[in-house]
Amino acid sequence: MFFIIGWAKHSRDLGPVDERTCSHCHNTTVWRRVELSNRLTLFFIPILTTGRSVWDICPVCNRGYEVGGR
Ligand SMILES: [Zn+2]
Repeated sequence: MFFIIGWAKHSRDLGPVDERTCSHCHNTTVWRRVELSNRLTLFFIPILTTGRSVWDICPVCNRGYEVGGR
């Protein structure tokens, strides 16, 4: 018997936030809010989600900061 088990990083787009000027790339764009989590998968099916956090990120350079989560 053999199992395919592993951790996968997962991101989910929660939609646009508002227009901001990025302190890293200095572009003014509509930022995105994303939820990042780690998923334990068995046969590629997620069975456990941990480390969930919510980030606002710049769509140009993908830098951002954490705004919530647990
Ligand atoms: Zn940026």
